[in-house]
Amino acid sequence: MALSTECLTSDGKKVTVADALKLKRDQRRGLKCISCGQRVSPHRRSANGKQTAHFEHVPSDGGRNPSCPRSDPSRG
Ligand SMILES: [Zn+2]
Repeated sequence: MALSTECLTSDGKKVTVADALKLKRDQRRGLKCISCGQRVSPHRRSANGKQTAHFEHVPSDGGRNPSCPRSDPSRG
């Protein structure tokens, strides 16, 4: 399953994970999953390069969302 690399900002604008990583912490709070609308947070590419930059659903907002096609099955 492809990792999510785009999300919506609080004002409904579509941004890539690269754009989201440039946002300030308080701006990142408004990021939402394109598919399910749950809050997501941007993650940088892993140091070993195995995982590309992507968004993950925020656990405090209900945890992983298995019904969301954008949800990473192993990490949320
Ligand atoms: Zn989602």
